[in-house]
Amino acid sequence: MNRMRMIKVLTCLAGLIFAATLPLMAQLPPAVGPGLPVPANTPKPAETPSLANEAVGWLADLVRINTTNPPGNEQVAAKYVARILLKEGIPSEYLDLTPGRTALVARLRSSAVADPSRALLLVAHMDVVGVDPTKWTVDPFSAVMKSGYLYGRGALDDKGMLAANLAAFIALKRSKARLNRDVIFLATADEEQGGDASIKILIAKYWNKFAAGYALNEGGEVFLKNGKVQYVAVQASEKVAVNVAVIARGTSGHASRPTKDNAVVHLAEAVAKIGAYSAPVHFTTIVRRYFEGLAPLEDDEIGKWMRSLDAPDRGEHAQRVISDANPLWNSMMRDSIAPTMLSAGVRVNVIPAEARANLNIRLLPGDTIDALLVDLTKLVNDPQIHFELQPDAGLAAPPSSLESDFYATITRVVTQEFGGAPVLPFQSTGATDSAQLRLHNVQAYGLMPAPLEEEDFRRMHGDDERMPLASFTKGVNVLTKIVTEFAASK
Ligand SMILES: [Zn+2]
Repeated sequence: MNRMRMIKVLTCLAGLIFAATLPLMAQLPPAVGPGLPVPANTPKPAETPSLANEAVGWLADLVRINTTNPPGNEQVAAKYVARILLKEGIPSEYLDLTPGRTALVARLRSSAVADPSRALLLVAHMDVVGVDPTKWTVDPFSAVMKSGYLYGRGALDDKGMLAANLAAFIALKRSKARLNRDVIFLATADEEQGGDASIKILIAKYWNKFAAGYALNEGGEVFLKNGKVQYVAVQASEKVAVNVAVIARGTSGHASRPTKDNAVVHLAEAVAKIGAYSAPVHFTTIVRRYFEGLAPLEDDEIGKWMRSLDAPDRGEHAQRVISDANPLWNSMMRDSIAPTMLSAGVRVNVIPAEARANLNIRLLPGDTIDALLVDLTKLVNDPQIHFELQPDAGLAAPPSSLESDFYATITRVVTQEFGGAPVLPFQSTGATDSAQLRLHNVQAYGLMPAPLEEEDFRRMHGDDERMPLASFTKGVNVLTKIVTEFAASK
């Protein structure tokens, strides 16, 4: 879109939205509270297009709909979103998965005949992880707003993205812009458990409803420090989750006569060795570019070692320093193994015949579990120990291209919007729905465009999860700009 047309569209859009949302705005607290750190380049509330304020209301309503998975109950959230779309004159369709679990899809068409290879998919999941309410200082499902934050389970993961996607999608509709590609809105279910209502099943049953060449999803971040955006990490690849059972077998018997082949002891020794093990370092292109981009932003010491990760003489030492400095960096460079569950025994006075542990493994894309298990078998070196691959392992997907038009648009817009902050490609250590999309030739990128401090990232899946409102409204505006620039005709 050329500049004049863009200005026209945005002006028209702002006017429309402003008129439509005055009553709602009156109910909302200001997006920026007193004493709240305001991210660099965040527009003052008066300048914030009111669509972002509407989106705050949607986010609050979505947090109040409890979609804890299991059981999920995403259908209630899907109905809520469908009603909002309908008010805008956008029809949507429920994609039923299992009883009570439904995804929702809607489409803005560019032409009578769809070209899926050009289409842009905006995707977010409606389910959330559970809470331990005794650890929260507020009700996790009331969307309490205080000191400039909206508190609640899902405020970040992933209802923030859901509300932002909805806003960008509606902005495009209200602007009446001519589209050069279809834009598809998809609210998914069962992301947190990946079961019968997950994106995998959704793709198997309904792919033609949302087939696209490009997608924007969760998984990337706008990293805020001391009120300034340090960098923007755009997720273009992710590690592959695999669970492996470690099984120790021995002779059962009376606990008053201990034996050397006690399964509990053999399991404990094996787990201790695995816990101390570091898999070899492999660099993917994305991880290499991530560290290259990050090095100048870190302090001199860390920056120096980041630049030396590949050096033949001191690479190994550099890898150790960087691994020790941050568990995320460690996991980005190698297959990671976290023992997560232990079980053994039936009575306090019986030596059990079997003891089991679960290893949650995150493979680098390209590495295989078979090769890792060969190494672990050698490491443990105990004929009483066996490894057993558990079902539902993730599948390695090819990375999304760093040369695509969409990646270029994201880079251009976020650089402008966040004061020239560098854009780094990111390989997430956790899994998102994007891997399944990439396996279907979608150039999928992860970016939650609200700037967040480390302190807020840590609350994801944790207690007192919260969204800074100033960051959210900024994120909505950035997302709207990315989608408009990519999909509206110039
Ligand atoms: Zn999520």
